[in-house]
Amino acid sequence: MANGIELYLFDSGTLGLGGVEVPVPFSLIRHPEGDLIVDGGNPLAVARDARAHWGKLADAFEVHMTEQQHCAAQLQQLGIQPDSIRHIIQTHMHIDHTGALGHFPSASVIVHERELAAARAAESPLASGYVGHAAGHVSVLLELDDTGPVLLTADAADNRRQWDGRDHPRALHSREQAAHSLERLRALADQLQPLIVFGHDPRNWSELKHAPESYS
Ligand SMILES: [Zn+2]
Repeated sequence: MANGIELYLFDSGTLGLGGVEVPVPFSLIRHPEGDLIVDGGNPLAVARDARAHWGKLADAFEVHMTEQQHCAAQLQQLGIQPDSIRHIIQTHMHIDHTGALGHFPSASVIVHERELAAARAAESPLASGYVGHAAGHVSVLLELDDTGPVLLTADAADNRRQWDGRDHPRALHSREQAAHSLERLRALADQLQPLIVFGHDPRNWSELKHAPESYS
């Protein structure tokens, strides 16, 4: 039975990490019962003054983002008004995923309770290591009519190398749990053969369709 769900992939600019420019994605899911955002990419404040918002982290992650690349601005370009967004799914609360928070007044935020607790307990991004794998991370699996299954790994796998086991997943919270999550995702992917969208993979990203094109 057709479900009419559409997926739009956006990036809110890139981060320079050790000489590599990685995309900072966010997604819009148009569901017959309402629109959802998955993460929001970089916060707007980062486009204005990364150092003021992120402090020393801005030295480690070189932000390339304009105000027009903020999620709310990009959705408005598609004709989607902020108060039409019903839900924001936070795969986790790291600093490059929270751009939607505070910009969509009618949206309820969906976040794993362990993640919320960890984010609240974090004293500062540097002290908590809140730039690596997270305590209550969730990935998102969609079933689309034409495309079939789509897996948004988010930061459970930044890229293909981590997915293939050639690199460790970034795992400042728990290497064991991160590896376990990845195993479960891979088993799921073996079974379903989904289209995979990694968390921050330049090559994977370049092979995907981006908004205003969509997957349906
Ligand atoms: Zn991330």
